[in-house]
Amino acid sequence: MDWNKLAEALIPDKNIRPLEEYEALYPERDLPKGAKVTRLAPSPTGFMHLGNLYVAIANERIAHQSGGVFYLRIEDTDAKRKVEGAVEVIHSSLKYFGIGFDEGAELSGNYGPYYQRQRAEIYHAYAKDLILRGLAYPCFCTEEELEKTREYQTENKLLPGYYGEFARCRNLTEEEIYENLAKGKPYVIRLRSQGDVNVKHTFHDAVKGEITVTENNQDVVILKSDGIPTYHFAHAVDDHLMRTNLVIRGEEWLASLPIHIELFKVLGFRLPEYGHNCSIQKIDGDTRRKLSKRKDPEASLTFYREEGYHPLAVRTYMMTLLNSNFEEWLLKFPDKPLDEFKFSIGKMGKSGALFDILKLYDVSKSVMSRLSETEMYDFLSDWAKEYGTETQKSWFADRDYLLRVLALCMGVGGKKRRKDFVCARQAMGLLSYFFDASFAPEYSFRFDKNTVRAVLEDFKKTYDPEDDSSVWFNKVKAVADAHGFASDMKAYKANPEAYAGNVSDVAEMLRIAVTGLSNTPDLWTIMQILGKDRTLSRIDRAIGAL
Ligand code: GLU
Repeated sequence: MDWNKLAEALIPDKNIRPLEEYEALYPERDLPKGAKVTRLAPSPTGFMHLGNLYVAIANERIAHQSGGVFYLRIEDTDAKRKVEGAVEVIHSSLKYFGIGFDEGAELSGNYGPYYQRQRAEIYHAYAKDLILRGLAYPCFCTEEELEKTREYQTENKLLPGYYGEFARCRNLTEEEIYENLAKGKPYVIRLRSQGDVNVKHTFHDAVKGEITVTENNQDVVILKSDGIPTYHFAHAVDDHLMRTNLVIRGEEWLASLPIHIELFKVLGFRLPEYGHNCSIQKIDGDTRRKLSKRKDPEASLTFYREEGYHPLAVRTYMMTLLNSNFEEWLLKFPDKPLDEFKFSIGKMGKSGALFDILKLYDVSKSVMSRLSETEMYDFLSDWAKEYGTETQKSWFADRDYLLRVLALCMGVGGKKRRKDFVCARQAMGLLSYFFDASFAPEYSFRFDKNTVRAVLEDFKKTYDPEDDSSVWFNKVKAVADAHGFASDMKAYKANPEAYAGNVSDVAEMLRIAVTGLSNTPDLWTIMQILGKDRTLSRIDRAIGAL
């Protein structure tokens, strides 16, 4: 076979340069010893999965902790899945969670282009070299022929794929090849595998540990009929030329690892280290399953922004999923920046990471409770600008008022911070009674109308906003006593039947009247913030609704 002639016929790309030129153009990176070069390599589908964030954090941490480089490569070989603006979505959603790239698509960098579609010439050059060395060949099999082989293999319980006797185009003669080409038959380029499935190797996966890998014997497609590379081939060429030395990716790629090992070998590339991380799962009824883009809104990164989860909360929660010793560290150092935690690839989960939204709520509550009221103001204001209603946006017009509300609702200055806020959307819901335009009470008093009316009327008569909280409370007690509610809890507990209730029932009536809710932060402070007129008019409104 004249390999030279064949390579020219199959890959007539005029832009191809000698391989040494690519090697020289993308030299080994000048980095300290042990520095890791990692990447995120998403397809631009416009959808960012929680799993993307998971793998991004791992890659980013390991690169930056080791003094290495973390870059973004866009795997846009599948034109059908490509969505306009998707790269912007990748950058902006990761940026929200504090993840930045050192180089890559839409950024500068010396190892580009970082879009696979712009790298055709490079793939062609390496594929052509394999043809020249007899390690790749054209395959003219049609979809129907391949389907027939698959059916035969299934029926006969044989390993699926294009190998051995099923690799029909592997041994085409020179004549047959040129005949097919002359007929204009479409072809793909396949690897001529040198592997043997009976040979197994021990392999160290940075996440999974020691695993057994069976040699590849599949003549996998490396270039599709339109000259676009498959994931396998692009992965080998790109990660070699971009000088990636650690590939952390989803475990769905573990099954193709034998192919990648063989490709790196035949291409003469040094194999990077690999870490295959587990998928994110959730409990659904009695089963545990993968977090699904279709079924679970929380699978999408957009969900966390729309709901207004604080980026630090999501990141902190992800860290609990990523590294088994993180929570212990967090307990010890709750106020340290997350990046001070020593991330370890060896401590990543080997099997599925279990996503638990209740745990996220908990983490979120504590992260939110650590913010100052001004930080919370800024966070909510940013959220409202994008996702809030017009009325919610108007709350930010009076900064001082909202800061007072936030200080109260967060327990700033108190003995212990309150942990009521989970995310911006929910927090805004909790704050709404402070704003007349959003105040829509559904009163649910536990006492009869006449009692409630009498209590509220009486309180109105005694209410003076100048009272400090203890004078105020004494007045509430006096109203309680006047209406048969015990103001002394000891007396009440000793003989509850003797009373209509106790002072806390009276306070609850006031609370419901003023806020519409039976559970709120300190009522005296709420009345202080609302001011006299608004407090009284709310009590009137409640009386009117009885
Ligand atoms: N484009 C592949 C994916 O999105 C990348 C896998 C990898 O990191 O190599 O799954």
